[in-house]
Amino acid sequence: MRTLFSSEHEQFREQVRRFCEREIKPHYRDWEKAGHSPREFWRKAGEHGMLCTTIPTEYGGPGGDFLHACVVTEEMVRVGANLGIPVHSDMVSPYLLHYGSEALKQKFLPRLCAGEIIGSIGMTEPGTGSDLKNIRTHAVRDGDDYVINGQKVWITNGFNCGVVLVACKTDPAAGAKGVSLIAVEEGTPGFSRSQPMDKIGLKAQDTAELFFDNVRVPASNLLGEEGRGFVYLMQQLAQERLVIAMRSTATLEHQLEQTIRYTTDRKVFGNPIIGFQNSKFKLAEAKAYITMLRSYVDQLAAQHVATPGGITSEQAAMAKLVSTEIMNRYLDEFLQLHGGYGYSAEYEIGRAWVDARVSRIAGGASEVLKDIISRNL
Ligand SMILES: Cc1cc2nc3c(=O)[nH]c(=O)nc-3n(C[C@H](O)[C@H](O)[C@H](O)COP(=O)(O)OP(=O)(O)OC[C@H]3O[C@@H](n4cnc5c(N)ncnc54)[C@H](O)[C@@H]3O)c2cc1C
Repeated sequence: MRTLFSSEHEQFREQVRRFCEREIKPHYRDWEKAGHSPREFWRKAGEHGMLCTTIPTEYGGPGGDFLHACVVTEEMVRVGANLGIPVHSDMVSPYLLHYGSEALKQKFLPRLCAGEIIGSIGMTEPGTGSDLKNIRTHAVRDGDDYVINGQKVWITNGFNCGVVLVACKTDPAAGAKGVSLIAVEEGTPGFSRSQPMDKIGLKAQDTAELFFDNVRVPASNLLGEEGRGFVYLMQQLAQERLVIAMRSTATLEHQLEQTIRYTTDRKVFGNPIIGFQNSKFKLAEAKAYITMLRSYVDQLAAQHVATPGGITSEQAAMAKLVSTEIMNRYLDEFLQLHGGYGYSAEYEIGRAWVDARVSRIAGGASEVLKDIISRNL
């Protein structure tokens, strides 16, 4: 029994569940073929209060807490959907809320909450991902403007984004202290993007390359202070990693349930697959790990709600590391128990298995997380 959510969160869950069943599930395969979800879907999600759940009402948000964001994540898992909503709602909008000027908040947050525009964050470049302080995209101050040049890759929501928060070097000689975050709007001359990238999984999640060729934006598009971008990225990482841990845990729970159902229904050599000792032991082992994981992740979520920013980078790294490693291990076992049907794109398990693989890389590769944890040994 989970004690994390109030009855109000559970009511919200019912609404989100109905929305996902109606507006995502029937269309998802088409979006996978297109490589992205349509902008109209985002507007509907905004109308139903599913976007930017933690943004206060004064900026057009639903004024919820982190647990509302967890509800949205969990309900997306239930319909097997992997869209860029967590990046839009739990990364981009909190950066604007916490570090944006009042003018930037007023300009972007109401439209992000309504789904009128989609948000991205551009950190990774062709030459650097894990080692962010070595980015080469740079912004040079010219009067009241910044002029940005460079390239980003693997940017979630990049193909459809209305605003991207770009990590740029404003002082190339200063290492991490020379990184700043600058908002760039769709349509700004010199800003262009690729078609959705051809990935092995997360097919409906739009991911694109972004190009900045003498992109001129007002200096007021800077988030917070110049040279503090790296600090801001690090401050927000704990929440971002907790969201990934929440999603991974929910995926494991959902796919365990599906696999129990499948192995109970399907007979092999005259017996249900679940009747083999090997199947029971695999499922029992998975259940034990998932139950332990759920307890830790919910504890961190409660801690994060009680004291926003209160979870440490080590706790978040442990939650992401263990949840994503366990997810990849057991989704592979679950797929095995589905036999050939596990390899069909028609069955959720196959898609969940391939979608899960990136979780050990993006948002901090497992090796980077171990490095963080090892600092406190
Ligand atoms: C589907 C998808 C969506 C993404 N969305 C975004 C987004 O919205 N915005 C964005 O900015 N980026 C995004 N990324 C990029 C992602 O964050 C990077 O891929 C990730 O940070 C790793 O960087 P890299 O790919 O350059 O790998 P590298 O940094 O080149 O690392 C490669 C490998 O080297 C090893 N390694 C790295 N560092 C260490 C270390 N310290 N110790 C030991 N081994 C190490 C790890 O095995 C790692 O996987 C996305 C990526 C994907 C695939």
